[in-house]
Amino acid sequence: MKKKESEDKADLLMQELSKAERRRILRSIRASQKEAEALEAAREEEKQRIRFMKEAIRQAYKAEALGEVPIGCVIVKDGKIIGRGYNRRNTDHTTLAHAEISAIKKACRVTGDWRLEDCDLYVTLEPCPMCAGAILQSRMKRVILGCYNPKAGCAGSILNVLQMKEFNHQVEIVDGVLEEECSHMLKEYFRNLRLRLRMERKNSTPEE
Ligand SMILES: [Zn+2]
Repeated sequence: MKKKESEDKADLLMQELSKAERRRILRSIRASQKEAEALEAAREEEKQRIRFMKEAIRQAYKAEALGEVPIGCVIVKDGKIIGRGYNRRNTDHTTLAHAEISAIKKACRVTGDWRLEDCDLYVTLEPCPMCAGAILQSRMKRVILGCYNPKAGCAGSILNVLQMKEFNHQVEIVDGVLEEECSHMLKEYFRNLRLRLRMERKNSTPEE
């Protein structure tokens, strides 16, 4: 049946129905349209999250190139990156040079405000207590995590500093974005580090 004919037939059928039935059918059509729109919006959001987490991973590789533990971070406001950071603890000789702290500093410089209320922070590894504290202090809206850190994480692993109801602000958490990639990057780093240390030890052992 041609499209026009089938539309006419549908119109005729609708006219034959009672008012209440027509309303019920229209309601269900509208509901499924809304559902499709919501699904599309969720898909688009997921695509954006992956795009920004990939940029955080790119930052992490900058840390690795310096011989640092690969951890990277970006801060996003209105769909734009306003701060990037990566771990530079050994390079800068300071405890404070974590990826999140560097990204927060840059984002504050860009916005001219210590508050980052409408911002999303993407980080490849769950924040430590210091960074979770800084994120909370900045009033960040949302934190998007790559992988969890069972040994030091403060977004749910050891503590959940970001969501304690006793504080005056809570941060939304989205986890598991490119989780496999983020955790693989760290595992590879530590595996290579162990291999290098073993080699160095072997080379420095005096021959008998
Ligand atoms: Zn940290």
